[in-house]
Amino acid sequence: MPINKSRGLIALQKAFHQSLHDWYRSNHRPLPWRTEPSLYRTVVSELMCQQTQIATVLPYFERWMKELPNFSALAKAPEEKVLKLWEGLGYYSRARNLHRLAKEFVQLPQTPTSALEWQKLPGIGPYTAAAITSISFNAAEACVDGNVIRILTRLTADKTVFKNSTAAIKKYTPLAEGLLYNPDPGMHNQAMMELGATICTKGNPLCTICPVYTLCEGARSGDASSLPRLERPKTEKISVDRVWVIQNKKILFHRIPPNAKRMAKQHELPTPEQAGIHSDQLKKIKPLIRKRSITRYQITESIYMLPNETFSDQKSDPGKDCVWVPLNKIEEITLSGPHRRWVTELLQTNS
Ligand code: SF4
Repeated sequence: MPINKSRGLIALQKAFHQSLHDWYRSNHRPLPWRTEPSLYRTVVSELMCQQTQIATVLPYFERWMKELPNFSALAKAPEEKVLKLWEGLGYYSRARNLHRLAKEFVQLPQTPTSALEWQKLPGIGPYTAAAITSISFNAAEACVDGNVIRILTRLTADKTVFKNSTAAIKKYTPLAEGLLYNPDPGMHNQAMMELGATICTKGNPLCTICPVYTLCEGARSGDASSLPRLERPKTEKISVDRVWVIQNKKILFHRIPPNAKRMAKQHELPTPEQAGIHSDQLKKIKPLIRKRSITRYQITESIYMLPNETFSDQKSDPGKDCVWVPLNKIEEITLSGPHRRWVTELLQTNS
């Protein structure tokens, strides 16, 4: 009985719920925010899991809970500590929002329980608000994200080419809401997320072991893996030059100003301009090339290893936002994941 537009949701709901929920009860992963649930753990896990794989999140989550076990501890923590605990997870605005959220949360006269109230807190959009309130307060809110869109477009074999995921979410929110299991919306939402993360995966859906296989039009038509169809965003290529200078057992870093919109107070290897290095000084140096991608940007980073005496030979100091960090203090500063990798690699290869 495939799900298609001609069949009423109610008739399909029962079979869908039974198959999905039986599977989830027996097969879900014992993630720490599920085995020992609390509102705080749900909120932290939801923020950490945005755009990040669960396997990556797990050690961060455990470390975070040891250091900042509740809203109050997080609200009181200095920002440097919060960012340090987040180092390597990327998308640092999530850490800052979580910190701001905790500060606002502890001031509230009572715990918000509705999705609308949660959406007023920093970093909480419709999906996260639905996840938090359905899991923690049994609110009848459907979570609709990329995982859920993937499952629903495959169940319905929808070949629409969506302009972006926002358009797909808009179209599929009513179906997700129609399929919600009101007696236990939190469990249902987690079952959908788990199905999307472990069975109905992006490139290679495991249809033969899927609990809702018999209801799935996409699996029957053999098109499932190509769904959903989204217009490809145009990629943009960017080149960035960086310099590597060690002097008196210290490395030169650029410290991003506190008022910067992105990555404030974090450290990076400086660009030549930030370090006050003239481009002529780079001409004879063959840079180390490292490539990375952030969203639609493909970035080529050229790291120029400058001689040790670079700054003792010239009058000018490095740029005003640059700092010298002793080699034995590198672990204490906050670096983005790629910069931490490059620094570790360069220290190893040049020691
Ligand atoms: S049968 Fe395949 S395509 Fe359909 S929901 Fe399951 S894993 Fe996804």
